[in-house]
Amino acid sequence: MIHEIIPVGLLQCNCSIFGDEQSLQAIVIDPGDEIQNILAILEKHSLQVQAIVITHAHIDHIGGAAKLKAATGAPVFMNPNDLELYDHLDMQASWLGMETPERTTIDTELRAGDSLALGDADFHVLHTPGHTQGSISLWIPSENKLIAGDTLFRDSIGRTDLPGGDGRQILRSIHDKLLPLPDDVIVIPGHGETTTIGREKRFNYFLQGLSRS
Ligand SMILES: [Zn+2]
Repeated sequence: MIHEIIPVGLLQCNCSIFGDEQSLQAIVIDPGDEIQNILAILEKHSLQVQAIVITHAHIDHIGGAAKLKAATGAPVFMNPNDLELYDHLDMQASWLGMETPERTTIDTELRAGDSLALGDADFHVLHTPGHTQGSISLWIPSENKLIAGDTLFRDSIGRTDLPGGDGRQILRSIHDKLLPLPDDVIVIPGHGETTTIGREKRFNYFLQGLSRS
C-alpha cells in the first residue's frame, strides 16, 4: 500500500493519500488545502481517487474538498453530524482570517460501522465525537494504522472549546474506541507527528487514569 502524509495549509493538517499498487485506486483523507501538492502525489504514483474522506468539518481538514472533487470527480464522504459545521465554513474562515473556500456536497454519509475498501485493505469508520459531533477515525487493520483526525494527538487530544466540542465526550470516544486497539497501532493524527496507541496510553497526560477505568 502506498501511503503518503503531507501537511497542508495554514494549520498544517496531515492529509493522507493511500494508494493500492494493483488497482491504482486511491483514498484521500482530509484535503484541507494545497490541492496542487495532493494532485502531484497522485500523479507521481498514477493513482485515481475513488473516495475523499473527511474526518471532521473543520476548515483546515475540509477546505480543499471541493477543489479535489472538481479535479478528480471522486465522491466526498463525511459523518452527517458535521453537516451543520460545514454550513458555517464562512464563520470558520473568518476566525482564521482566511477567504471562505468553495463548498461542495457530501455524496455519502459515513457512520460508525461503515467501511471503505481499497485493494485488500478495509478502512473501518469509528465514530469518535468530542472534538466535533461528526468526528470520525479510520482504523485500517491490514496496515495496522489509525487515522485519528483531531481526536488523538501525540501527547495531546483535540480541543473541545469550539462549537460542537465536548470534553467528556472526547475522552469517552478515546477510551471506548481507540484505546482498545493494539498498542503497536500507528496513529496518524490530524496535525503533528505520528505516534502509537501504546505510547499515548503510557505518556499522554490527558489520558492518565483513562486506560485502567
Ligand atoms: Zn479540527
